[in-house]
Amino acid sequence: MTKSNFNTIEDIVRSSLDFKNGQNNNGWNKIYCEVCGDGKRTKGPRGGWRFEGEFCAYHCFNCGIDGNFDPTREIAYSTHMSKIFSAFGIPRKDITSLVFAKKVNKSISTSVPVYKKLELKTLEIPDHFYLLSSADSNNVIAENAREYLRNRFINPESYPYYLSTGISTSDDPGEISAAKYLANRIIIPSFFREKMVYYIARSLDPESKLPYMNANVPRSNVIYGFDKLYTTPKKLLFVTEGFFDAQHLDGVSVLENRLSSEQAEILDKSPRQKIVVPDNKGDSDALLEHAAKMDWGVSIPDIGDCKDITDGIKKYGKLYVIDSVMKNVKIGRKAISMALAKRRPSMKASKKA
Ligand SMILES: [Zn+2]
Repeated sequence: MTKSNFNTIEDIVRSSLDFKNGQNNNGWNKIYCEVCGDGKRTKGPRGGWRFEGEFCAYHCFNCGIDGNFDPTREIAYSTHMSKIFSAFGIPRKDITSLVFAKKVNKSISTSVPVYKKLELKTLEIPDHFYLLSSADSNNVIAENAREYLRNRFINPESYPYYLSTGISTSDDPGEISAAKYLANRIIIPSFFREKMVYYIARSLDPESKLPYMNANVPRSNVIYGFDKLYTTPKKLLFVTEGFFDAQHLDGVSVLENRLSSEQAEILDKSPRQKIVVPDNKGDSDALLEHAAKMDWGVSIPDIGDCKDITDGIKKYGKLYVIDSVMKNVKIGRKAISMALAKRRPSMKASKKA
């Protein structure tokens, strides 16, 4: 199910485009640029695609757009490349499943450091799971899931979300019953070294009595965003409670308003400067207290009474909220203690309300 029909990006691009204008000396396959339209097209094609193994690049000598694709990177392609893929009508679902297949198959021997105490059980991806990105627009559940994400200003293609067919062919009665329960949910997996170690499954039925179901394994040593811990060591690492908030800030989510000792250890080992962005309502003091102890940082953006980052983005827009998060970053014990002190009276007030 998660297997891509294509082995390389070259296969995908070539299956959509006809390179009838040949190659130049540097190996660029010439084509009229669909991003800018290539002027009046009297000068011959000024766009070019170049392929090399798993890598591809595009450049246009008319509009100057540049993009490249590399599935071994944390983010396989840039915004420009995304624009180029769209302009040329390269099916996004093929690209997404290619990227995902590479991620899953990539060997474990990457540069991820060793966690001594951390033991995470790898979860097989169940036979009833399929990628949201592989579902077509006739699939009502998939459309509901996309709507659910868009309501949170999340691009449905930005993460390997799963859905369940509801039917497992396993002989394990537990799995068969789990499949039934997962049928009308958006499933959000957590990956550690490219393997699924956890998932939360949010009901797409707003009336559901059981809004969340989780993988049936302990989550005290699970965070969302393991892959971010050791990349870009100089950049701030935002730590949020909710998954979507972490997506918006390109950070990690701990799922709760407190840290387990295992989660604390996992985060403390990361060389990045941790910045807790707590929910506005709800008691995040335990998260902040750990942050203070470890000289992390905190950011309390100006988002009025919005309950979290995602809610703030709904009201004020993403640019404003991200900017406000950045502007309000304060690092160190003292700053966090002050933030804590400031929060306490307002939290009591909000609890009464
Ligand atoms: Zn162009």
